[in-house]
Amino acid sequence: MRIGVLALQGAFIEHIKMLRALGVEAVEVRLPADLEGLDGLIIPGGESTTIGKLAVMYGLMEPLRQFAAQKPLWGTCAGMIFMAKEIGNGSAGRDQPLLGIMDVEVERNAFGRQVDSFEAGLDVSVFANGDGEPFPAVFIRAPRLVAAKGEAWVIAKLADGTAVAAQQGKWLVTSFHPELTDDLRFHKYFLSLVAEEK
Ligand code: GLN
Repeated sequence: MRIGVLALQGAFIEHIKMLRALGVEAVEVRLPADLEGLDGLIIPGGESTTIGKLAVMYGLMEPLRQFAAQKPLWGTCAGMIFMAKEIGNGSAGRDQPLLGIMDVEVERNAFGRQVDSFEAGLDVSVFANGDGEPFPAVFIRAPRLVAAKGEAWVIAKLADGTAVAAQQGKWLVTSFHPELTDDLRFHKYFLSLVAEEK
């Protein structure tokens, strides 16, 4: 299995380390040609406006959309924003470049100043394999899911009901950063989606 991590900006090295810890070949993607031969792609957290502008600059927008039509994609935090079809009214920079593939509406920086960063234990419905351990989710100036529409469904919520992860077929988005923990379950789950498509 060969997984790419979009390496334009943000926390891409941490994803690469997680993938390598799982014995998977992980490659940094900066140019359209880097997508060749990959079985899946992770779009990391960082700053979604910056990631979008750099993706436009490097001619990656259409190649990424074409890749996503065939293969699993997972966006964490800024990556989730970049994959979304809609950014809610409350969000800054509504005209930022988006891949716009996933049927979700997101709100950027949805958790206010006092809780810019926080950690929460999440029940993730797709991990319902009897382990029952909450997933330690790290939120950093995180977006929230305002709505999952069409084929997209919510797979994790905070205790107050705020939706923070969704899936749509082979695509995954999370508001938080599994790559900043040492819990490999989300990466394993993504790899299971990749294995299904391969
Ligand atoms: N606040 C960032 C944005 O709107 C996302 C933060 C993150 O990826 N940790 O793009």
